[in-house]
Amino acid sequence: MIKFLDLKKINAPYESAFQDKLKQVLDNGWYILGSEMQDFERNFAKYCGTKYCIGVGNGFDALLLLFKGYIQLGKLKKGDAVIVPANTYIASILAILQADLVPVLVEPKLSTFNIDTNAILKHITSNTKAILVVHLYGQLVDMDAIFALANAHNLIVLEDAAQAHGAQITSGKAILELQEEPLSRNQAYSFYPSKNLGAVGDGGAITTNDAALAEVLRYLRNYGSKLKYKNDFIGVNSRLDEMQAAFLNVKLPLLDAANAHRIAVAQRYLNEIKNEKIILPSISNSIDHETSHVFHLFVIRTLDRDDLQRYLSENDIETVVHYPIPPHKQKAFEFLNQHSFPITEKIHNEVLSLPMSPVMTEDEVSYVITILNQY
Ligand SMILES: *Cc1c(COP(=O)(O)O)cnc(C)c1O
Repeated sequence: MIKFLDLKKINAPYESAFQDKLKQVLDNGWYILGSEMQDFERNFAKYCGTKYCIGVGNGFDALLLLFKGYIQLGKLKKGDAVIVPANTYIASILAILQADLVPVLVEPKLSTFNIDTNAILKHITSNTKAILVVHLYGQLVDMDAIFALANAHNLIVLEDAAQAHGAQITSGKAILELQEEPLSRNQAYSFYPSKNLGAVGDGGAITTNDAALAEVLRYLRNYGSKLKYKNDFIGVNSRLDEMQAAFLNVKLPLLDAANAHRIAVAQRYLNEIKNEKIILPSISNSIDHETSHVFHLFVIRTLDRDDLQRYLSENDIETVVHYPIPPHKQKAFEFLNQHSFPITEKIHNEVLSLPMSPVMTEDEVSYVITILNQY
């Protein structure tokens, strides 16, 4: 049986280091906003090449607090419209709604699954104030094009990087860092166990170069409190757990190696899957670098997706659909149910995620390829 993702196997090499950390934190006796969390914030900021990192409870809160931070700074206000890809994971859209902002869904490109920059233009009105891009499945959005558009229309740019830890544009340079607009790069990360950098529970972080935003976010995540029992903002309780931060400190140094393994698996899939019924994912050629896609997921398309999934399952290969129902068709989003997003709907009908992880063996990859080529 080839699992879609074997979390136990992924974390097995870290187990004894996790035990040591657990003992350290228990011995230390400081469980919230402690030294492990501070170390992780420093380590992850350094890794990402950003000035600041703020550890929060999960990826959703990272997104929500980013919006709340901008609202607190007076740069966004209730009712402002935020552009977001129509095929994203529901969390991106929920965060916009929970911040009292208005999501404006825009179609992705069928080829890369990422937001279609040309399609954004049609949706910009005087009420549009921000774009939330999502580096979906681990592939970076073409940020040059996004910033050209954002600058022309005076829009704030936010990034949902929950699936793209370690993706970068230029070799050896800061992750996701773009030379000309360092101040406006703000990323929300999730450390949900299945992500490229996964904790052993919930976790999240925001990275930014904006000192004012970073300061506000530190208060907002902790009841809006600057000093204990002195509350300057209407905040929330969303702090990166000390234990999870300790585990993440163990795993972060091996993130690049884990991503390299994912990319190697993807390279084999791309080179060796040869079946005209299967459309392989395409790597955007405007971002021409091997780490511009860190393959959180390897997503193929096929016309009769359910049939292919059944066939793979019969051959002991586990696959997952990311995602079966587009956000605008969800019951929770009844106000969007009338909208039509044909490309998004096509994607949701046709996509299938193949087994992909940093612990897949060559034999497992070969088996998946063989079975797919026999379909
Ligand atoms: C996982 C994910 C989130 C949410 O992260 P949680 O830690 O589960 O809250 C947000 N956006 C995207 C694109 C994700 O994949």
